[in-house]
Amino acid sequence: MLKELLKRDYVILDGAMGTNLFMKGLTSGECPESWNIDNPKKIFEIHESFVNAGSDIIVTNTFGGNQFRLKLHQLESKVKELNYSGAQIARKSAGKKVFIAGSIGPSGEILEPLGNLKYELAVKAFGEQSLALAEGGVDMLWLETFSDIKELQAALEGSMQTGLPIVATMSFDTVGKTMMGVSPNEFVSFMEKQHNVFAYGANCGLGFDELLQTVGQMQNAGGKNVVAKSNLGIPVFHNGLIKYNTTEKSLLDYAVKARNMGALFIGGCCGTEAKHIKKVKEILKASPYEYLKYKQSNSLNRENKKPKRRRRNKIDTKKV
Ligand SMILES: [Zn+2]
Repeated sequence: MLKELLKRDYVILDGAMGTNLFMKGLTSGECPESWNIDNPKKIFEIHESFVNAGSDIIVTNTFGGNQFRLKLHQLESKVKELNYSGAQIARKSAGKKVFIAGSIGPSGEILEPLGNLKYELAVKAFGEQSLALAEGGVDMLWLETFSDIKELQAALEGSMQTGLPIVATMSFDTVGKTMMGVSPNEFVSFMEKQHNVFAYGANCGLGFDELLQTVGQMQNAGGKNVVAKSNLGIPVFHNGLIKYNTTEKSLLDYAVKARNMGALFIGGCCGTEAKHIKKVKEILKASPYEYLKYKQSNSLNRENKKPKRRRRNKIDTKKV
């Protein structure tokens, strides 16, 4: 039962889909969701790697599976097929103990009045995608990387047609707010008014410190069942490839701090692979819970000096 997860001290999520797709040969400009039909084995392998690393929830390869984003690849007539297959592949790789979340990303369009997308059309598109994911057998819907609260509302409205539990995360990547100016506080009060919500929080963004600040602000605002899905630091281009200059210590610190600040769902976004999730799982198991209150006026660095560091001092700082 999904509700059983809420009683745990923490729940392990998976890592990035995009990063791992590129590692498996997806080329830039190619439609990631098309692999649910054309290359299901590779999608299966990515899910399987996270299941083996210890993820309790895995997220489907359907982030851009709405009609607006699929239209960029002339695949807008395949919404149902691509989402259904994405859910089925995840289902097959998950076994009985791991839950499947159907990924739903933003439309890629801007809603009226700033842009041209009508609210009702957005609801309809998100509804179409959600229903296909539900039919494919997902346990919940996972709305991620949103920056506009109105668009998130449209996605929530569309998703609610399925009756499935919903998780929603926004990206707070612009001076502590989303690109469209939503603060963690505003997000918490918005989410607390919604129905069918299972959990909510932050994903993607700039890196561990920024994501932890967001988690702290959500906790202070009374956030419940908070999700932390951080990028593996800031991506940099190196010889034409995207790299992440992140140390293993900072990854482990992030996981332990997120849990100790009260985040319940902990995983990774861009840059994270199964090997990172495995390490997150190990360190959380090995580190006793110690309540860490986030004080808005203090920097995280000051907070860092407070708790005991015995266990974490032993960790290498080699590159991950
Ligand atoms: Zn990301």
